[in-house]
Formats: sequence, structure tokens, C-alpha cells
Amino acid sequence: MKEQLEKLIELQKIDLEQEALRVRVDERRDKVNADTENLQELAQMLDDHTKALENTKTILGTKREELERAERELEHSKEKLNAVTNSRDYAALEREGENFRKIITAVEADIESLQKELVTAEAKEKEMRTSYEALSVEIEAARREVDEASASIEDQVNELKAKADVIAKLIKPQILARYRFIRSKRAGAAVVSASGGTCTGCHMKLQPQAYIVLQRQNSLECCQNCQRIIYFDAEEAAELHNHPAK
Ligand SMILES: [Zn+2]
Repeated sequence: MKEQLEKLIELQKIDLEQEALRVRVDERRDKVNADTENLQELAQMLDDHTKALENTKTILGTKREELERAERELEHSKEKLNAVTNSRDYAALEREGENFRKIITAVEADIESLQKELVTAEAKEKEMRTSYEALSVEIEAARREVDEASASIEDQVNELKAKADVIAKLIKPQILARYRFIRSKRAGAAVVSASGGTCTGCHMKLQPQAYIVLQRQNSLECCQNCQRIIYFDAEEAAELHNHPAK
């Protein structure tokens, strides 16, 4: 049984190694995917901003037309004023001219503030576009790296699988089945040390009788609490005895 357990521990080491390789790549891929979502949000914001900017430009265009019209009308009014002969018409045209001047002043103020708005909005758009492009390049590179890492671990994983297959053949089918069953139910290790009298899988103390049985190493023992396969290592037990804090 001792030898069988040693093989099982060896197999588990390889299995966990494979798992770790995959987890690392998966974590990196998750990060790339999360970044891609952020990028899409940024693209949406940029799009909204560009639309608002276009809108400001349109308003500015309208205001400029309004200004030109008022200026033309003021010009026209002045011409009429020069040609006028009676004082009543003169006064009316003067009021009209005054009115156009007021409109011109107001529209000019609108144009000035819209132009300022536009300058700020254009600077912001440029900034947003720059960071969008930088992030986009960064993500693209990260995605390529993850794809490469994913391809390169395939070879390593296959190598580990081949090694695992060799060891698995040396383990009794019922022990192997038990191991695979626990692995499918629980994350991480399925075979754990209980050399100190405590299951290192779930940290529950073993019953004294169970611990005695375990130390005989004649049978396949499982933790009563978490069902993981437990083993006893005399060296480890001695170490734990001498350095209990460890
Ligand atoms: Zn346990």
C-alpha cells in the first residue's frame, strides 16, 4: 500500500502541475477578455463624445449663418437710413438698426462660447482616441501572448499526460478510481498527508483509532470528514514531532 500511495502522490503531482499550467493561461485570458470589455466601453464613450462634438459644430454653423444674416440686415437697414427723408422713418430705422446690433452682439457671444467648447471637446476627443488606440494595441499584444502561451502549454500538458498515463498503469484500478472520483468532486489535492494526525486537506483531526490504522499503512484510508485519501509519512511525522510549529 505504501508503494501504491507513493505512485498516487506522484500521479497527483503531475495532475496538479497540468492544472496549474492551464489555470495560469486561463487567468491571463480572463484578464484579456475583461480588458476587451473595457475597451468596448471606451469605444462607446468615444463615439458618444464624437457625436456631441459634431452636434456642437452644427450649432456653430447655424449661429454663423444667423450672424451673417443679421449683419446683412443691419447693412440693409443702414442703407435705408441714409435714404430716409422724414424723421419718423429715421427714428424707426434707427431702432431697427439698434435691434440688429443687439442680435449681432448676442450671436457673437454664443459663437465665442461654442468655439471654446469645441476646442475643449476636440482636445478631449484626441486624448480619448489616443488612449483607446494605446489600449487596443496593448490588448492585441496580450491576446497574441496568451494564444502563444496556450499553444506552448499544450506540448507541456501532453508530455505530462503521457507521464501520468505511465504511472496510472502502476496503480490498482480501484485506488485510481477512488482518486479520480475525489479529484472530480474536490478542488486541488485528492491525496493528502495526515502524518501529524490531522488531515491537511480539511484540517480536521483524525480519530485516534483511525490514525493508528493509518500509521500501519496496510490499507487505503480516507479522511472521515472530507473523504480525501490520506497517507502517513514516518519522516514527515518525525519532523512534525520535532518542530510542531512547522
Ligand atoms: Zn479531510
